[in-house]
Amino acid sequence: MASVSITVLGGGREVGRAAVLLSYGDKKILFDYGIGLGEDDIPVLPLPVKPAELSVVAITHSHLDHVGAAPFLYISRRIPTVMTGLTRELSRIMITDMLKLAGYYLPFEYPELNAMLESVVEGRLGSTLEISGIPIDIINAGHIPGSAMFRVEVGGRYILYTGDVNTIDTRLVKGADLSGIEANVVVIESTYGNVDHPPRSRVEERLIEVVKEVVEDGGVVLIPAFALGRSQEILCLLAEKMPYANVYYDGMARQITEILLNYRRCIHRPDLLEKAYKIFTPVPRASLRKKILKEPGAVIVTPAGMLKGGPALYYIKRMWSDRRSALIFVSFQAPSTPGRRVLEEGVFEELGPRVQARVMWFDFSSHAGVSGLLGLLKSVKGLEEVVVIHGGDPTVFDFAALVEEELGVKVHTPSNGETIELG
Ligand SMILES: [Zn+2]
Ligand SMILES: [Zn+2]
Repeated sequence: MASVSITVLGGGREVGRAAVLLSYGDKKILFDYGIGLGEDDIPVLPLPVKPAELSVVAITHSHLDHVGAAPFLYISRRIPTVMTGLTRELSRIMITDMLKLAGYYLPFEYPELNAMLESVVEGRLGSTLEISGIPIDIINAGHIPGSAMFRVEVGGRYILYTGDVNTIDTRLVKGADLSGIEANVVVIESTYGNVDHPPRSRVEERLIEVVKEVVEDGGVVLIPAFALGRSQEILCLLAEKMPYANVYYDGMARQITEILLNYRRCIHRPDLLEKAYKIFTPVPRASLRKKILKEPGAVIVTPAGMLKGGPALYYIKRMWSDRRSALIFVSFQAPSTPGRRVLEEGVFEELGPRVQARVMWFDFSSHAGVSGLLGLLKSVKGLEEVVVIHGGDPTVFDFAALVEEELGVKVHTPSNGETIELG
């Protein structure tokens, strides 16, 4: 019997550019092919793979670090490609936007993106497809709307690839659950493999408290948020707790919200998203921004989440010195981003003096913390080996050690280019 092996092409001991190749005889399955950010934010691809050899490409979700480099695979050939219908629609938007901003650095163009999108065999969460003779289970990953884990059966063993995963229910997505599912090998992310997040309900309560204070005080609340996922989660929360507030959402959030509303089954509380869409106000034109800022008590949800461009830059400059206003971060602020500087030093580019508005950060992570990840592995049946990826150093090693200790299974922490013979 041919042996089963896993080669990590990207995301080995790093967060970003996820790409994992599973080989069994002449069958080759590629899970994700994402973009990473190198020096000066120049996009970097995973290690190369021969598209001609691939039997299937399986894309877990529409974040660029999972799908961003995938069009490169379709330059000369169509490859059967599995993803959910929602991931397909969102990937089109995300990659089109990336081509606009960074197309110069990328080795593909719109025709390759279209070739990829046309190669997609859509699979619903909770269903099984058979492609090139390989059964593929598509399982909810709970990370962002439409996100999936994949379980394939090769050589008589079940291999499960988690992609990015979250185990808690949020208003936007239901948490992942693997209870009773058989998987002999699990390839798992470990972004937060050595910490736990505070309970979501407490984070939500505190955020609402602060927003209420600022609104009552007549200040403006600026919430920089990624247009896909985080924006909608915050809008759902505000729709439930503060439906009377004057909430605006700017940038691509509107277009994405409209797509999500066409996939209600992928949303945990579609009623709240619908409500947010009905009662809150999109900002379709830049000329409206000035007017909104003059409105006491306005709440603005806008990209970019880390203040690297986007309409957030317009707003922040005008509320910077207002003590009654607040700048509320709801996502991880990567080192050396403008958002991180504001948070740590209270300064922003050329704005000069320190910020006078309140600056706060709330942990609305869409990745499971260590307990969630461990719980996920413990709930799997027949687990023999674990491959830990998509985490930095030392997180990957911390999590691997914990898995070994608590589950007593074989654990691997491959770096990029490494091949593991399963066995
Ligand atoms: Zn992701
Ligand atoms: Zn990721």
